[in-house]
Amino acid sequence: MPTHVHAHAPVGEPDPAMRSPTLRGGARPLRVAVLGSTGSIGTSTLDVIASAEGRFEAWLLAAHTSVAPLIEQARRFRPAWVVVVDEAAAATLNPADVPSGTRLAVGARALEDLVASDEVDRVVSAIVGAAGLRSTWAAVTAGKTVALANKETLVMAGPLVMAEARRRGATILPVDSEHSAIHQALQSGRVDEVRRIVLTASGGPFRRRPKATLADVTPDEALRHPTWSMGRKITIDSATMMNKALELIEARWLFEVPAEKLAVLVHPQSIVHSLVEFIDGSVIAQLSPPDMRLPIQYALTHPARTDGPARRIDFTSTMTLEFEPPDLERFPAVGLGHAAAARGGTAGAVLNAANEEAVAGFLAGRLRFTDIAAVCAEVLERHPFDATPSLDEVVRLDEWARQEVATWANG
Ligand code: NAD
Ligand code: MG
Repeated sequence: MPTHVHAHAPVGEPDPAMRSPTLRGGARPLRVAVLGSTGSIGTSTLDVIASAEGRFEAWLLAAHTSVAPLIEQARRFRPAWVVVVDEAAAATLNPADVPSGTRLAVGARALEDLVASDEVDRVVSAIVGAAGLRSTWAAVTAGKTVALANKETLVMAGPLVMAEARRRGATILPVDSEHSAIHQALQSGRVDEVRRIVLTASGGPFRRRPKATLADVTPDEALRHPTWSMGRKITIDSATMMNKALELIEARWLFEVPAEKLAVLVHPQSIVHSLVEFIDGSVIAQLSPPDMRLPIQYALTHPARTDGPARRIDFTSTMTLEFEPPDLERFPAVGLGHAAAARGGTAGAVLNAANEEAVAGFLAGRLRFTDIAAVCAEVLERHPFDATPSLDEVVRLDEWARQEVATWANG
């Protein structure tokens, strides 16, 4: 692989099936495992697969508790497997509802085993939160090509996951729109020619709201995102800009760049998905309307590009693109992200777990909107830092951080 000509080539080789001439002839569709198929990224992935005229086969569909939508999807896509991760939810399922030709598996362990199957060509990791870590890890360990939406995996265990990918010959392709943009922009130069990587952010719904009223933000207000339609957790993360914090950490490990080369820029239109500045001053960006089907598709077709269902820029009408630096006082989460990206070690796992628990607390009415970043800062500050944790230690600290937030919310 000519890695020396690209600033960033994803770890490992593209899977041979993508290169095989039979694929273009339609003889052998690429078998895709969609983890979190009933979610926002999952359904967009199935849209891409449905539009791809037989290039892809949904081989496995997995969801947590949404049994009815999963069965609907199974009827439409006829996968080899459906996996219900939550055992109680699986117990509500009538096996007769599973279409013939599709097998049913239950539980997280079954999912990890199936993801590693030789039948799987690409894995779309689209479970939300730390719950996505184990299945993504299983895919990486099996040397798969992983289209990674579950940024939390890299936030929690970036160095471990990237090292495992290298060891096993796995490829990690970003689905997160910013990281897909960066991955594309980095192909314009060498890694030692990169001066700065700039992640764009919409700024969410509260970019202009008077700061003094941020503590009173309700879940309904925070769930109304101006440009993107996404799952609930990431929508709250966008409102606090914790999403950008997680993305800074994700970028730090995925592209293996030092934290000080990473910056955030608010861009309310969500058309420019990120930018890379090279040492000569050239800035390369990727533009497209806010539609996750494009980065998902690119992660499925990479290194090729194909036509697809994503919306396109209309160059016949006037388009205004604005950029402004983030207000770090309004959005303290961004500072936490920079700090955790620089610190590495256990900082990402603790920030991620504290945030997940705090977001759940906010949605349940136990925490105020502004408490989310505040409690994350405190837990991060107090945690027993380790620069080189094992995966078990990461999982232990994840549990510890959740407990700390629960105690904070009750006290
Ligand atoms: P979502 O809430 O819409 O869907 C989550 C999916 O994960 C569902 O299918 C659900 O059944 C499954 N799931 C939830 N908990 C699970 C568990 N414990 N075990 C197994 N499966 C479980 O979430 P989403 O918005 O699609 O986000 C998924 C991931 O993609 C997140 O990591 C998010 O940060 C990332 N992402 C999402 C977007 C977006 O536009 N939605 C953009 C970039 C990145
Ligand atoms: Mg993103």
